[in-house]
Amino acid sequence: MYNDSMETVRYDAAVIGGGEAGIAAAVKAAELGARVCLIESSSQLGGACVATGTLPSKTFSISAGVFESVKKAKNFGVRIDGPISLDFKEVVGSRNKLMKCDIGVIHSHLRTHKVEWIQGWAVFLAPDRLRVTRTDGTAVEIETPRTIVAAGSHPISLPALPVDGTAVITTDEIVALTECPRRVVIIGAGIIGCEYAFIFRTFGADVTLIEKTAHALLGQDKDVVAAIEKELKRRGAALRFATTVVSCAAKPEGGRIVTIEGGTAFEADLVLTCIGRRPSTERLGLEAAGVALGGRGEIIVDECLETTASGIFAAGDVIGRRMQSSTAILEGAVAAENAMGGSRTIDERFVPGGIYTQPEIGSVGLTEDEAIENEIPHIVGVCGYAALVKACSLQTFNPGFIKMLFDPSSHKLIGAHILGAESAELIHNLVIAMRTGATAEDFIYSIYHHPSLSEGFRDAARDAVSKM
Ligand SMILES: Cc1cc2nc3c(=O)[nH]c(=O)nc-3n(C[C@H](O)[C@H](O)[C@H](O)COP(=O)(O)OP(=O)(O)OC[C@H]3O[C@@H](n4cnc5c(N)ncnc54)[C@H](O)[C@@H]3O)c2cc1C
Repeated sequence: MYNDSMETVRYDAAVIGGGEAGIAAAVKAAELGARVCLIESSSQLGGACVATGTLPSKTFSISAGVFESVKKAKNFGVRIDGPISLDFKEVVGSRNKLMKCDIGVIHSHLRTHKVEWIQGWAVFLAPDRLRVTRTDGTAVEIETPRTIVAAGSHPISLPALPVDGTAVITTDEIVALTECPRRVVIIGAGIIGCEYAFIFRTFGADVTLIEKTAHALLGQDKDVVAAIEKELKRRGAALRFATTVVSCAAKPEGGRIVTIEGGTAFEADLVLTCIGRRPSTERLGLEAAGVALGGRGEIIVDECLETTASGIFAAGDVIGRRMQSSTAILEGAVAAENAMGGSRTIDERFVPGGIYTQPEIGSVGLTEDEAIENEIPHIVGVCGYAALVKACSLQTFNPGFIKMLFDPSSHKLIGAHILGAESAELIHNLVIAMRTGATAEDFIYSIYHHPSLSEGFRDAARDAVSKM
């Protein structure tokens, strides 16, 4: 109930959550002329992306990539005298520097747009009223005609694998690591599990990757998946797929023994669970606001990202769609624009995927399996990185390929999957190509820098046309 003696502040828009979606929403609403408050309970802005997710994992990937490259320096005629080693403390240091820098950029954005940050936990009292409780126990009430909920998500844990934050962790606790574990068991071979499998293996740890389904990277192109599994094995990771963990026992001297179905056991100094994330919709008072949830606890939104309560919008992981920073940023901005009177929608056919394994993966649109299952006519064209002078000069051609799917009647691009150097960057060309309806001939008759990795688009398109 309302508390008459409590301080009440009026805003044109309130945003719950200071992650990528919330920041994008707050800035957009402010750009459109609103007086905006951004409510974030943590002492740091940026959400999972900055604190535990994208940024920490990507800085680890970059360090792993540099370590790999330096080891190969002699192939390029660069002599490094003396042993090459990895200093985990410096890796962590470089990650912390980047986090600080990113947080600085966020604050500067918010300042420029005069967004007011209220540090505290927000709860709906009514559709147009929130109570924010600060860490010191004091509270403020906010009256606003429009709210954007961007409360994010949290890691799922398994009953057989209780997280203790030291020997058994989720990606939330990875930032606290001060040294690289010797033996790591990773549960879940999805995007995050695979990324960390490559990272820890490159850092020198023994890695065992356990996965419930028969293959890694569910939903990715089958040729990409096969190549990644082969690459993980080549690098010495042990893959245990189509099985589950039955127990995770503590060893008296520290660490864990992880046992899978059939009784095989693995010793681990660190167990990292990467079995997915769940939208964070508890303790928000959503029922008081009339905001309905779906079966996975996600906030239900329409195509304009409005919830079941008029004037309340939602964006980012909390709506349980792609659960990526990239989509969270666009959803946040679109939700704010619509809260301010717009009616914009997001075309989900053109969402790029970027996976920072070694090598990277970039993808957009249909996979070959999806096309087959849904009886969508398609022609596949492939160009191996080994056929590209640039890839050969970088000595990163194996494994690596560009695979493009075209519609055989219109010749338009309908899907693309790239495995290899720079693929998470290259994929953006194909996102725009798909958005604008580019055909195989557009790729064939465009001029590309030589040598470049992008020449592979032309060669994959030629391969497809030769089969039409
Ligand atoms: C290991 C890992 C690697 C990843 N790598 C990538 C990648 O390479 N590329 C990519 O695009 N995505 C990646 N992601 C996903 C990405 O991090 C998330 O999709 C993104 O951070 C979601 O942003 P968000 O704003 O929706 O939520 P969050 O970042 O979770 O932010 C939500 C915020 O809301 C706050 N909050 C919640 N409830 C309240 C409340 N009631 N009051 C006040 N504050 C509240 C929380 O404290 C939190 O800060 C990765 C994720 C992980 C875990």
